[in-house]
Amino acid sequence: MKPILFNFTDGELEQFVVSMGQPKFRAKQIREWLNRGAPNFAVMKNLPDALRTQLDAAARTLPVEIIQKLESRDGETTKFLLGMEDGEQIECVLMRTSYGNSVCVSSQAGCAMGCKFCASTLLGLKRNLTVNEIFAQILVAQWELRTDRTTDRPIRPNGDPNNGDVSHIVIMGTGEPLQNTQNVIGFMERANRDMGIGWRRITVSTCGIVPGIHELITWGRPINLAISLHAPTDDLRDQIMPINHKYRLSAVLDAAWEFMAAHNRQLMIEYILLGKKNDADETVLYNATPEYAEKLAELLAGRNCMVNLIPWNAVDERDFASPSGNAVHRFQDILINRGIHTRIRRERGTDIGSACGQLRLNNAKK
Ligand code: SAH
Repeated sequence: MKPILFNFTDGELEQFVVSMGQPKFRAKQIREWLNRGAPNFAVMKNLPDALRTQLDAAARTLPVEIIQKLESRDGETTKFLLGMEDGEQIECVLMRTSYGNSVCVSSQAGCAMGCKFCASTLLGLKRNLTVNEIFAQILVAQWELRTDRTTDRPIRPNGDPNNGDVSHIVIMGTGEPLQNTQNVIGFMERANRDMGIGWRRITVSTCGIVPGIHELITWGRPINLAISLHAPTDDLRDQIMPINHKYRLSAVLDAAWEFMAAHNRQLMIEYILLGKKNDADETVLYNATPEYAEKLAELLAGRNCMVNLIPWNAVDERDFASPSGNAVHRFQDILINRGIHTRIRRERGTDIGSACGQLRLNNAKK
């Protein structure tokens, strides 16, 4: 297997270029390209042609390689299907928003959590990602933002959100970050140190791994925490999220409030709105009924949190249905009337299967 130069220490990289009969300073040039996210050696224009060809035959640049790149029609969302050294695939998504460029990264290849509505977990967990494999996802996005799509030349940030730098990270891609906590922490530290991304611009989303939340408390950085709640009672949550048998709703929320209190932050609650088909092929509400909205409001009353309502993104293999826009608004109105901050998450890139593990799944089915 070709070595991945990004994984080399500076000393190893120097040795490598010297072994190719090159002067040491080439190592520094190559490192600069790697840190910018260069996807291949051909783009390393300050290296001699012959060396680039030689490198291409002998090595790879990053620990992830772009297998497929999809762009939403509105040009705001770019989704990458990435391949790793051992053939496992992951997804990452770049979202150009009014507040900056946000990247959604995966923390595992596959997922062991088994949530009943999710595509990422259908094939089970393959393995944890390394720090470099998570970090390389933001480099891929950074390269995309900084490289003119037609000329392959670097572009400079000019205030236009369509270029510039990665400014926000959400660890909401495939996998459960708090089942790979040490590497996820290593990744966040690196993103903060090497790319200057502030703690408050990083969000970890978890299905509720209580010991993992405690690890984050001990770590002590003021990142954002998002809890995938999806149900306001243990009974209902047990039906759709197997992890709830292990960590009960109240334990998860207690850990989350403790984390938020330490940093005086607002907790993000994610709540997917699910419907189901009945015999007459009508969509009936599942966790999105007015009764569950009332229960959710009770659960969160007086707490500093923001509920993100996420209309379910359809996954063929899953036995749910997306609720109507009206049902979504009714649910939101109840929460708002009870004084709970609530917003409906804008769907991005549904036309490119940007939702939650679908690209990887569809590719594995081929
Ligand atoms: N394991 C972590 C992070 C990955 S999932 C977690 O559970 O939070 C990121 C978010 O996408 C979670 O809130 C998850 O429940 C949600 N999600 C999964 N499948 C979805 C689907 N088909 N439509 C909408 N949201 C989905």
